[in-house]
Parts: sequence; C-alpha cells; structure tokens
Amino acid sequence: MRVLLVEDDPRMAATAAQFLRNAGFAVDVAPDGATALRESAINPYDAAVLDLGLPDLDGLEVCRRLRARSTPLRILMATARDAVEDRIAGLDTGADDYIVKPYALGELVARLRALLRRPAESLPAVLRVADLALDTAARVATRGTRVITLTTKEFAVLEVLMRHPGEVVTRERISEHAWDQNYDPFSNVIDVYIGRLRRKIDFPGEAPLVETVRGAGYRLGASEPASGPSAGKRR
Ligand code: CA
Repeated sequence: MRVLLVEDDPRMAATAAQFLRNAGFAVDVAPDGATALRESAINPYDAAVLDLGLPDLDGLEVCRRLRARSTPLRILMATARDAVEDRIAGLDTGADDYIVKPYALGELVARLRALLRRPAESLPAVLRVADLALDTAARVATRGTRVITLTTKEFAVLEVLMRHPGEVVTRERISEHAWDQNYDPFSNVIDVYIGRLRRKIDFPGEAPLVETVRGAGYRLGASEPASGPSAGKRR
C-alpha cells in the first residue's frame, strides 16, 4: 500500500517515512500542501497522512481539495494534542480519521492499516484467495497450514494482488501501490518479486495460484470460486 506523508518537519518526516517503509508501505514525502496536491494528482496513493500545520496551504484546505477530486484516497489527519476544534474540522472536511501529534509510530501504522481496511469494500484484516491467507494486521501469510515467511516487499506485492483476486493486475498497478517515486519502470524488479512469491506460495503438488498473464500482468487465484472441485477454469 502506498502512502503520501505530508509533513513539513524534515526530521519527523524522515523518521516516520522510514518506519512506515519498514512496516511494508511504499512512502513518498511531501513537505508542503502544493507538493501534496501535485503528487497525489500523479500517483494513486492508497492513503495520505496529512499534517495540519503546513508552510503554505492549511492542512484542512489540502484535505478539502483532495476530497473534491473524489479519489478513493484515505486521509489520516495529524493534529495537535489539545486542538479538538481541529479534529472536528478535519473530519468535517473529509478526513477519515485523525491521529494526535506527537504520535507513536506504531500507532500511525495501526491507524493506517485500519483505515485501509475500512470503507469501500470494508476489507477484512485477513485477505483470502483459495487456501492462501494474508493477515494484514499480523503480517503473516499462510497457505493451508503452511506458514509463508515474506519479506516486507514481498508482502506489499502480495497484498496488492490479494486485494484483486481473480483479476489481472498490471505491473504498473503493482508498482503504483507497492513502490514509491524511486521505482524504475524499466527494471524487471516486479517480475523478480513475483518469481520469489511464486516459489513461496506455489509448492510442487499444490494448485498454482500465481498466474502470469502474458503481455498484461499477473493474476492470483484465477480459478475462483476457490472452494470445491468445480473450479474447471483453472489453466
Ligand atoms: Ca507542521
């Protein structure tokens, strides 16, 4: 999942960004409102952490303009401890939740995870495709009873696929949600990660779940419905 961190304090931004990356998020940092609006128009972020006090635009104004675009972006507003009015205003302008500064980084991750599960399809904490399960809160993957150990990046790539079971997911889409601005579109890094995931998820003798769709991208669990032997579409 890809996050835009809007924070003008460079030290706080660097610390939070690193923590989020370690937790498996792809993170871009915007030091002001104008950058936030520009970057979010280009990149399909899953969530934004929006500081209220920014050097140019007010965080509330940024929130208002983001909401006016009707993107499915989740917005977590970072507000000062005592400013109840700010929290109310933030929620009124369309923020999905707020977090009080200074926040514990663990709480920031938990709030983001909760936000990204929420609305739209109200995704459960555990995503399932056939007998593959991904616990996005505990960050554990299992296939049947087998526990799959994933690196942070492998987890991020798998999460993108598992949010779209049975659909062709393009490399572009994977890169947009699992990589930050430093992604090199000419590299084969996504194919490398898919290869690693396939080796970990599809053991010999197991029904293959990770499918390559030539010229298009990848598909996870093409043969849904997952239960029962009626899955005749498997290729
Ligand atoms: Ca600030």
